[in-house]
Amino acid sequence: MTDPGTQPIRVLLVEDEPGDARLVQLALRGSPNIRFEVDWAATLAEALRRLDAQPYAIVLLDLGLPDSTSLATLTKVRAVHDAPPIIVLTGLSDAEFGLATLKSGAADYLVKGDFGYDGLARTILYTLHRTQLEQELTNYQLHLEELVARRTAELAKAKDAAEAANRAKSLFLANMSHELRTPLNAILGFAQIMERDPRIPADERRNIATINRSGSHLLSLINNVLEISRIEAGRTQISREAFDLPATLTAVEEMIRVRADAKALDFVVERCADLPAYVVGDAHRLRQVLINLLGNAVKYTERGRIGLRVAMAGGDVVRFEVTDTGPGIPAEEQEHIFQAFYQTAGGIAKGEGTGLGLTISRQFVRLMDGDITLASQPGAGSSFAFAIPLPPTDAAPHVVSDARVVGLRAGQPSPRILVAEDHPDSQQVVEQLLSQVGCQVRIAANGQLAVDLFQTWHPQLVLMDMRMPVMDGYQATRAIRALPGGDRVPIVALTASAFEEDRDLVLEAGCTEMVKKPIEQNRLFEVIGRLLGLHFEYAEAALAAAKVDLSALPVATREELAKAAVVLDKEATLAIVARMRSAHPAEADLVADLALGYRFDKIEALCASR
Ligand code: ADP
Repeated sequence: MTDPGTQPIRVLLVEDEPGDARLVQLALRGSPNIRFEVDWAATLAEALRRLDAQPYAIVLLDLGLPDSTSLATLTKVRAVHDAPPIIVLTGLSDAEFGLATLKSGAADYLVKGDFGYDGLARTILYTLHRTQLEQELTNYQLHLEELVARRTAELAKAKDAAEAANRAKSLFLANMSHELRTPLNAILGFAQIMERDPRIPADERRNIATINRSGSHLLSLINNVLEISRIEAGRTQISREAFDLPATLTAVEEMIRVRADAKALDFVVERCADLPAYVVGDAHRLRQVLINLLGNAVKYTERGRIGLRVAMAGGDVVRFEVTDTGPGIPAEEQEHIFQAFYQTAGGIAKGEGTGLGLTISRQFVRLMDGDITLASQPGAGSSFAFAIPLPPTDAAPHVVSDARVVGLRAGQPSPRILVAEDHPDSQQVVEQLLSQVGCQVRIAANGQLAVDLFQTWHPQLVLMDMRMPVMDGYQATRAIRALPGGDRVPIVALTASAFEEDRDLVLEAGCTEMVKKPIEQNRLFEVIGRLLGLHFEYAEAALAAAKVDLSALPVATREELAKAAVVLDKEATLAIVARMRSAHPAEADLVADLALGYRFDKIEALCASR
């Protein structure tokens, strides 16, 4: 700021009336404490010239000049580069006009004759102070804006970095899941093939069943961790397809009943009578949530009962409630148990589980437009409930049977299926699986070979692994689509990718369907059957057709089997099977199959009927 003591304040006085100009000059020069140095311009042109030539601290401006009048004068002076503050001096006493000058950027507005000339010096001083403060404020504001802009840029950079890290994580997971699932695919695939091989003795099948069980557990762990990551990345999509609600509930009920019976828990299922048969929703996710909640109920309850209640809750909303008479969950833990990897002391003591079940279940229910609530009385039990909209529909759903495919139905031609797969283990799994049920199979170890084989062998369907060396599945699919006849052949993508949205990429490349690895055998047969118009024979149907029952077995053996089945003793059952195999191979197969599928209820029933 100008220091009035040392530096004179340079004033440009713009005034066409020499008398007025003189008065102002005298007044300022006579100011006792402040030194002013006043230059005088009588026209706008001169004023602009002076302003251009040297700096002034302030301009005292009369607006009515010979070469410019009114607000235009003010505007022109203000347009000068680095214009100093301007105090308007006018002969007009018009408040409105005064306001207009201020709005147009004047620092002050003085009416000639209204101000004493000693007051003028003060006004100038105040104006200078004020404009300096305003300048500081403006600078500060600019600084703030700059600061905000810089912070915003930094944040944007951090956000980009976080997003890049997230993408890297997703990619890592996608790759990792591929790496983990591919060998698991081979382990589970071979174990399943061996489990159905009649040449393998029953006691060895037990070991194979263990491989299968552990492999499935490992797969579910991988899937859980992936599921959480996918949910966190916002990549989980809920399907809205017609499904059979009562059948879904029955399947869940049967699965849980075996576990509840094994722990001698009562399992009470209450379904209200007005539940619709077919509804639109995500059957798979609903099943997962119910099995998780009921599974926990069984796991944590040592005596008493567990329950599932399903009722309409207004409109299309269906309410599910899972209750138990277990240890309950203390109030302070109730919110935590929904956090990933959180287990209560009781949960940790069980030594199983990952603490992910409830996290995933809650997220699924939220994606299905509901939420899980928990009411629990420590010592008395827990109740987990959720309500989700499940609009009824008439459309009959599309079902995948969970019975085992044993072959093509009699009288059907054996289809030619080309399998493009680079991994030797996966090649063998798919080849054995398909040839076991009577398909003709050729293997191509990369996309290029698949394209070549397509031209010479003319397969009716192609199973295409999407990741292969030389030429990947995407390129191979495009190449086949461009060949004669290549536009009609169904191409089923096989992918170990964990991400549902990769489906779009696969379809875009020209594939007809996508089947995930590890291959769920029934899903594969369902797809092949549907695309080629073929029907397969299922294990239970085959057995029923062959009319195998246990009436041929000695009564003692039947009683022994019934005893083992009542207590769900798989080992004992399989041991009996091993002993009876030589005399009764068909019965041995039937009982072994039922035991491996945990259908002890059926074994019991068969032992009872004669
Ligand atoms: P997990 O069962 O794999 O440990 P969950 O996410 O399913 O993981 O459950 C988290 C924790 O919540 C469990 O460790 C257990 O302590 C507690 N919990 C869940 N359900 C029940 C229940 N029905 N009764 C008592 N505790 C339960």
